[in-house]
Amino acid sequence: MANSTDRQLHVYFFPFLAHGHLIPTVDMAKLFAGRGVKTTIVTTPPHFSAATTTGPDIQTRLLDFPAAEFGLPAECQNLEFISAHNKGWEGVSQFTRATVALREPFEKLLEQDRPDCLVADMLFPWATESASRFGIPRLIFHGTSFFALAAGEAVATHEPQNGVSSDDEPFVIPGLTDEVRFTRRQLPSRQTTGSNEKEEDFMFEFFKRVGESSSECFGTVVNSFYELEPAYADHYRRVLGRRSWHVGPVSLCNANDRAVRGKEATIDRDECLKWLDSKEPNTVVYISFGSLVKFSVEQMREIAIGIEASDCQFIWVVRECQQDDGNNWLPKGFEDRTSGRGMIIRGWAPQVLILDHAAIGALVTHCGWNSTLEGVAAGLPMVTWPVMADQFYNEKLVTEVVKIGVSVGSREWSVDGGGTVGHAAVESALRRVMSREVEEVMEMHRRAKALGEMARKAVEEGGSSYSDLGALIEELRSQRDEH
Ligand code: UDP
Repeated sequence: MANSTDRQLHVYFFPFLAHGHLIPTVDMAKLFAGRGVKTTIVTTPPHFSAATTTGPDIQTRLLDFPAAEFGLPAECQNLEFISAHNKGWEGVSQFTRATVALREPFEKLLEQDRPDCLVADMLFPWATESASRFGIPRLIFHGTSFFALAAGEAVATHEPQNGVSSDDEPFVIPGLTDEVRFTRRQLPSRQTTGSNEKEEDFMFEFFKRVGESSSECFGTVVNSFYELEPAYADHYRRVLGRRSWHVGPVSLCNANDRAVRGKEATIDRDECLKWLDSKEPNTVVYISFGSLVKFSVEQMREIAIGIEASDCQFIWVVRECQQDDGNNWLPKGFEDRTSGRGMIIRGWAPQVLILDHAAIGALVTHCGWNSTLEGVAAGLPMVTWPVMADQFYNEKLVTEVVKIGVSVGSREWSVDGGGTVGHAAVESALRRVMSREVEEVMEMHRRAKALGEMARKAVEEGGSSYSDLGALIEELRSQRDEH
């Protein structure tokens, strides 16, 4: 019989049902597989292809998502459905309740397969108990930066937002290396009354449980690299006492799949690259707000007017659901007037492929952590436009800590797409980030480029993320062998 030490380590990955969580988790599973680990991704049938495009060395286990049981339409299989249909807190909480019901069938899979470790998304807070039922370590994946983890923890613990007298009065987030100012408006708050109040309460309780499960589990795996945020990686480990391993940017690890991440692109990859090839280096700005943000028609129009007035060359990615409103969000004649200098991608863009193209000079991002880190990895400065989740924290990291971004001036956290940023602010941020005349901006470009190089080195053999992943795998092997 094989000694347990010789047996291949088997790690289970359980990503949350949203592309911003699924994509980096699948990348991570691929990274583990590349280091000789047997990996299994557990997901639901509609996400099967996203989980398997990465190759045969990863196996997939499927669970059915109980949408109907929780009052959701059967086609609601992903958080994107909730945001696309403007379901607000109520939809988010119904969706969350349905994910909690995945616990029982998920534990059946654990019982059958008996993996050695579970890497589960933070939005499955119950997974720590599931892992401990089977005597295995649970690693948590938050899908955010060390900075956001540290800042979020400081706000939750010290509640500095209670010491100011208005929603717009700034407060300093205590205990961080940098003096970072925030306002109450940039934090989630309970705002509704009536039937939604109950749902908000449920979500706030749920997030409390997420926080607890973070501190109770075996450790954290972070899609970041040490050189990007050393003070915060240290803070998370030493001040907050969390065991953690940084393994990113995971998007750099899948050279073969860069055109297909998460979903099939809605534009022909070659057509898109040909268009970019026709442009001078660093002259096109990429504008995208990820997979969940849905802006109002008014906000979309302001963006369009700002883009047009900026005279910049651009690729603007617009979510499919935006077209539910007809084309009212697009000023008449916009595409004719910007023809040749701009391109709208309706649906899903091959984002990392585009960001890596020499023609791209900057990106406009909602500061979802994946897009932010993909921008960093591509060596690009950015315009930051946070809307919700951890995005306001990531904005601070980009604009005030590593100083490679210009804020568009978005001020309010909102699960429904946020307040309105006017076209003049869009135009001015675009002109600034694409400018080659302002020394301060050139400095930002140089810093971004240097960080991009550091990101690449971090994942190469001997680099900080490469080594930390090796240390994590060793740790998991010794955990297994001790038990
Ligand atoms: N993405 C993509 N094409 C798109 C939109 C998004 O490939 O048209 C990818 C993007 O590269 C990133 C992820 O989807 O890896 C979005 O994650 P992020 O954390 O940036 O934002 P979220 O969608 O979670 O708000």
